[in-house]
Order: sequence, then C-alpha cells, then structure tokens
Amino acid sequence: MLRPVWLPFLGALLCGIIYGAASGFGLPFVINKIFPKIFSSEGIEVEISNWQLMLYVSWLPIAFLIRGVSGYFNSYLINFCGVRVLEKLRLKVFAKLQRLPLAFFRKNQSGDLLSRVMTDAWQLQQAILNISNDLIKQPVTFFGALAALVYMALEKEGLAFVLLCLLVIPVCVFPMRYIGTKILNRAMRMQERAGGLTSVLNENFSATTEVRSFNLEERETGRFGTASREFFSARMKVIKYIHLLTPVIEVITAIGVSIAIYRAARGGISLEVVVPVIMALYMSYEPVKKLGLIHNQIKQALASLDRLEYILLEPETTNDSENPKKIDQFQGKITFENVSFEYEKGDERPALSNIDLTIEPDEVVALIGPSGAGKTTLADLLPRFHDPTDGRVTLDGIDLRELKLKDLRNAVALVPQHPFLFDATVRENVELGQAERSSATVEEVCALAHANEFIENFEQGYDEPLGEEGSRLSGGQLQRLALARAFLKNAPILVLDEATSALDSENEEKIQEAMTNLVKGKTTLLIAHRFSSLKLATRILVMDKGRIVADGSHDELYRDCELYRNLHKAQEAIN
Ligand code: ADP
Ligand code: MG
Repeated sequence: MLRPVWLPFLGALLCGIIYGAASGFGLPFVINKIFPKIFSSEGIEVEISNWQLMLYVSWLPIAFLIRGVSGYFNSYLINFCGVRVLEKLRLKVFAKLQRLPLAFFRKNQSGDLLSRVMTDAWQLQQAILNISNDLIKQPVTFFGALAALVYMALEKEGLAFVLLCLLVIPVCVFPMRYIGTKILNRAMRMQERAGGLTSVLNENFSATTEVRSFNLEERETGRFGTASREFFSARMKVIKYIHLLTPVIEVITAIGVSIAIYRAARGGISLEVVVPVIMALYMSYEPVKKLGLIHNQIKQALASLDRLEYILLEPETTNDSENPKKIDQFQGKITFENVSFEYEKGDERPALSNIDLTIEPDEVVALIGPSGAGKTTLADLLPRFHDPTDGRVTLDGIDLRELKLKDLRNAVALVPQHPFLFDATVRENVELGQAERSSATVEEVCALAHANEFIENFEQGYDEPLGEEGSRLSGGQLQRLALARAFLKNAPILVLDEATSALDSENEEKIQEAMTNLVKGKTTLLIAHRFSSLKLATRILVMDKGRIVADGSHDELYRDCELYRNLHKAQEAIN
C-alpha cells in the first residue's frame, strides 16, 4: 500500500528521525552544556562577553527550530501518505463491491456496507496517521533521551542513579497491554453500531413516502434514537479505555521523576545538573506514553481493518472461469438443463426446480405465472446474476460459466422489473446502453420506446436532468427510458421483466408494434404481467412454484392448462 507514496514516506521518516534526535537528545544536551556556562557556580559573568552569551542562549531556539521544522514536515508528509493510502484502500473496496455477486447485497444491509466504506476506512486512516506520526518520532526521541542520560551519567559520575529512574518504564507495559486488549473488541462493537446507525438512516431516506403516508415519523425517530444511543454507549466504552492509559502512565512516570528529585536533593547535586536530567527523563517518558496510545490505536484500527477485509476477502463467485471461451457473435440458442436454484441453502422450496427448457434463436418466449413463481429468478440466471445451484444454463451450447462474463453480459439486454436511472440527463441515461453494435441513435430508440413525446416536452429535451434515481419521472416514463436503453444495446438476447407493467394499454400496444421489428433475429424472453403483452410471443410458458407447468401457444394453453385459464379469467374480470 505504501509503494506509490514511498518518496514522501521516506521524507517523513527522515524528518521524524531529525525531530526525535532534536527533542530527545538535543534539548537536554543543549541545556546540559549551555546552562553551566551561563550560570557558572562562581556567579561571575565577566568571563563571557555579551556575544558569547547571545550565542549560548540562541542554542535553545535553534534546537526548537530544528525540532519544529522537522516535526512539521514529518506530520505533513505522513498525513499525505495516510490520506493517499486511504483513498487507494477505499477505491479498492469500492471496486471489489462492483464485482461481488448480487447475493452479497441481499445478505448485507446497504447501510452497513456504507458504514464500512466510509467510517471504517476513516477510522483506519486516523489510526494510520496517528500511528505513523509517532511511530518514527517517538522511538527516536526515546533513544535520543536515553543517549543524553547515559552521556550525562558518564560525564558526572553521581548521576548513575538516574538510570534507576528509567526502570519504571517497563512497568508501564502492563497497563498498556491490559487496556489494549479491552479496546479491540469494544472497538469492533462500536463500528458495528455505527453500521446500524447508517442502516436506519439509509432505509429512512429510501422510504420518505411511506414514513409520511403511514405516520411513521415517531417510530422512525425512535428507531434512530435507539440506534444512536447504542452507538453512543459503545463509543463511550472505547473512550473509557482509550483515555485511561495517559493518566496511568503519567502517575507511574511522576513517581519516577520524584525519585530522581529525591536522590538529587540527598546527593547534593546542583540545579543546573538536575534540570537537564529531568528534561531528558521527561523526554523519555513521553514516548512511552505515546507508544501506549499507539498500541491502543492499532487495536482500534485492527477492528476496522477486520470489517473492511470482510468485503475484500469475500469470494467473487461469479468470476470468470480460468480459460473463458471467447465468442464474438452469439446465435442466441438458450438451454436450461435440469436447472434448480435456491437463494439460501436449505430453503423449503427452491426458487427454481428442475427446469428443462430450450429457446431457439429468433423465438419470442413469454413467461407467465402468479407472482413468486420464479420468473424473475429464471431471467436473472441469463446474465449470471446468480449461478444455478444444480444443472446448467448454456448459450449456443456453452455453459454460461465458461464464457467471459463481459461478453455474456454484453450479449444480454435486460430491462429489470424496477429499472434504475442515474442522476444524469435523459441522453446520458439512455446512452448507458450504447454498445459497439448499436446502430440506432438515442432519438431513434426513444421513439421506438415511445419516450420521445414526453422527452420533447421537457424544457431541455434530451439534456434534461432526471434527478436522483430518476425521481422526476413517472413509473411509465421510467420504464420507457429503460426500454430505450435496452433497445440501444441491440443485443442478441433481449429479456424484458414486466418491462411495460406501469404503462397504459395504449402505450404498451404502440411499443409492441414498434418491437415487432426489433425482436427479429433475436432471442427474446418476455415476462408478462398481463395477457395483452403476450401478443408478440410465439410461445408461452406457464410457471408456478419454481416449475414450468405448461408450454405452448395461447389456444393450446387455454384449452389444456387450468392455471393459465384461471389467470386469464382473473384478469378479464379486472378489465
Ligand atoms: P416472480 O418474478 O415470478 O414474481 P421471483 O423469481 O421474484 O418470482 O421469486 C421466486 C421465489 O424466490 C419467491 O418465492 C421469492 O420469495 C423468492 N425470492 C426472490 N428473490 C429472493 C431473494 N433475493 N432472496 C430470497 N428469496 C427470494
Ligand atoms: Mg418478478
């Protein structure tokens, strides 16, 4: 992860070392060397001139200047690296999410995923920043201070005792370890709660209409309040332990310092000797405290990393096979060979069971059946939104799993039951269907889908922005744009999943007329919601409870299939 930022990272490393040396060794050393020269024990200053005095005192600001400048660049460069690394990580997670199978998104709430990509990545970044900020500076400071202490101790023999004071440092390790382990699982729970909070928020934003029409405002506020409280209490548990460490270590080190002072007073050691020692002691305790905090942050970061890895390590089940067959031109013959599919292992009734079906190129096959029969599931197997649990689906005799996924999806134009439009202009939304084989223009396909009338009424026509999720369109308008998008794709296989359900019969009929030309030479699967949309079909399949129960023309089915007759009668009763 650090590879693309190695240069600034190296710079940061260097600055960190300078900083550590300046503060750990430099400051006590300067005080040790300069103070005795200025306040010599004879108390006579005639020996040093004003210039010399100025030179001596200026050592202090110089040491701080070096420490300040290198500290600044260390922090700046480290932050640069951290932000960069986070950006890469987030992008990696996002790209991974694009490739994961649909089932993953059914299993995980989008709010939780949102929180992982945003909050956990952010947590991780904060931790990386803080950790790397101190990871170089503090140890160098520590060893610098240690070196200064040893130097002073060797120079003035009486000071050997100060090394004794350093013995408190290993004692600090015990609270550090104890608190660190506490933090890990508390942080994990806190991030889960953060996910819960985002989930409630996300769901609420998607249900603005329902909240108002069913008077759910108070229920929703209550739900958010509960999630928010849970997050609060989980967060406080983390905070409790994170901030426990500093005072504990400070008390321990204060004891060390006071021992040093006691020994100094008893040993008759003068002030100018004691001051640099205390300075060096302080400079060596401080890193220990900081390293303890780092320890805590690593624990917290590990919790976040765990949650990101949950996404990063999820297997991509709809991957390309190792040696995908490359096919440029599909004929469009589809077969289902004894295909079964269940959404969850051990479902009482699989969504599809033992489907055997052959669709020839050039056929327009309609699927009809009560809702929940498995029509959408069947259609979703074609672009490999799911893979069959049993059996196989082939295209031109090749198992779909052996095809290159990109080629397969290029060959299928699917209009889903609930199409989605992006927050972009009409033209941009339709152009998503643009493919190499598109021969028509956006205007032409929109005319085919009878969308041109309402588009031309827009103030900006084809350049009209559609709002989030196409919120500025009616259901019928949305479907017509989705159709236009699929028409533009001009793929050899066309799948329409109740794609005209929100249209009035008149518009539907017009679109069907337009489509008679369009479906020529293509394999078409048409999931019908009403019988009037069966006109195009050359063959009708009746589905019920995950099985195909009848197959034939309208007249045959009307004669032989009771379910078909019932469905037909039920609809006539409505009309
Ligand atoms: P249809 O399109 O014919 O109305 P579907 O194919 O959508 O029916 O659903 C077939 C069956 O699979 C139903 O029993 C439905 O409850 C179930 N099902 C659909 N989608 C899912 C899903 N994502 N997870 C679990 N079960 C599902
Ligand atoms: Mg359906």
